[in-house]
Amino acid sequence: MKEKIWLSSPHMCGNEINYIKEAFADNWVAPLGPNVDRFENDMANYLNIKSVAALASGTSALHLALIILGIKRDDEVLVSSFTFSASVNPIVYQCAKPVFVDSEEETWNMSPELLEAAIKERIEKGKKPKVIILVHLYGMPSKIDKIMEIAGKYEIPVIEDAAEALGSTYKGKKLGTFGTFGILSFNGNKIITTSGGGALISDNEDYIKQARFLATQARDTAAHYQHSQIGYNYRMSNIVAGIGRAQLEVVNERVESRRNNHQFYSDIFKDIEGVSILEEPNSDYYSNFWLTTILIDETKTGGISRETLRLAFEKENIETRPLWKPMHLQPVFEKYPKYLNGVSEKLFDIGLCLPSGSNLNNNDKQRIKSVISDVFKK
Ligand SMILES: *Cc1c(COP(=O)(O)O)cnc(C)c1O
Repeated sequence: MKEKIWLSSPHMCGNEINYIKEAFADNWVAPLGPNVDRFENDMANYLNIKSVAALASGTSALHLALIILGIKRDDEVLVSSFTFSASVNPIVYQCAKPVFVDSEEETWNMSPELLEAAIKERIEKGKKPKVIILVHLYGMPSKIDKIMEIAGKYEIPVIEDAAEALGSTYKGKKLGTFGTFGILSFNGNKIITTSGGGALISDNEDYIKQARFLATQARDTAAHYQHSQIGYNYRMSNIVAGIGRAQLEVVNERVESRRNNHQFYSDIFKDIEGVSILEEPNSDYYSNFWLTTILIDETKTGGISRETLRLAFEKENIETRPLWKPMHLQPVFEKYPKYLNGVSEKLFDIGLCLPSGSNLNNNDKQRIKSVISDVFKK
């Protein structure tokens, strides 16, 4: 069996182990400590945002954001349907109701037109949505100006799910910094990783203080243990924060490598009829291209479908994956309201994520290229 090429695998720089050793040497083996503080500071500087809370996961970051914004039973939360389930689960943790909004074709992210239509109809039905969760999928910035304008008009706060979009920018400003909150993920396959972890970011320092308080069991100031609120155990450990510190030192290189991968695929597919690659709509959009994604229109490829290509890769031990299955099609979320235009369903039917790790080498790329050449006889 040939060596496996992964969709997106962890890419260490070597310095991670030094920060972990420091934590061991000082016995800071706990969900707090100098690595956590430094990681938060470094991240705040990198993003040019006031405050960062390092947490156990992106999911816990989103959960805390919803709690701090007061989301509770039966509240409605607008969320992109085309995403990973972690964007939606925390809404249900709060016994609130997700309301799904479909994508537009240029960035594949939330359609501003449908968002506004959804807000109007929910208000007519008697309930104004409380929050918008805006996902920047595969690193591609959403149509942020338009979304923020609509959110402002109806005075609904925005949480940006930038789990896949660390290092991406819109008009030069980092994703995650446009909304009231942004969330990041450092899971194993993300742009940088701490093995598992996440962060909640905001320019509202008071909100981030609240997040740290809730993430450490909501303990009141007192010599004994006293609690006036329900708390969570959501803080990042000082060991994994050491990994994060070193990973953040190389984040720009990681983004560059992923963008080079995207260029590599663009060059291959530009001459192949019926295959289109997700591109930045114009120079306002700067994607980290966390994953390079394509659409295969089998009516134009002479019958070669997404599955044809996916299975050909699988045979060569190369991992690829269909695009996210929209949340409104998931059995667990079927019953919730949805505002659809057919875009995400089409993307799911014909789209494929290609190997996009920042650690792909030339040999990997040759193997990938030869599968594509064989399938498309080019
Ligand atoms: C990975 C991911 C998350 C969740 O992050 P975890 O750290 O795995 O909890 C949320 N949203 C999106 C879009 C993601 O890709």
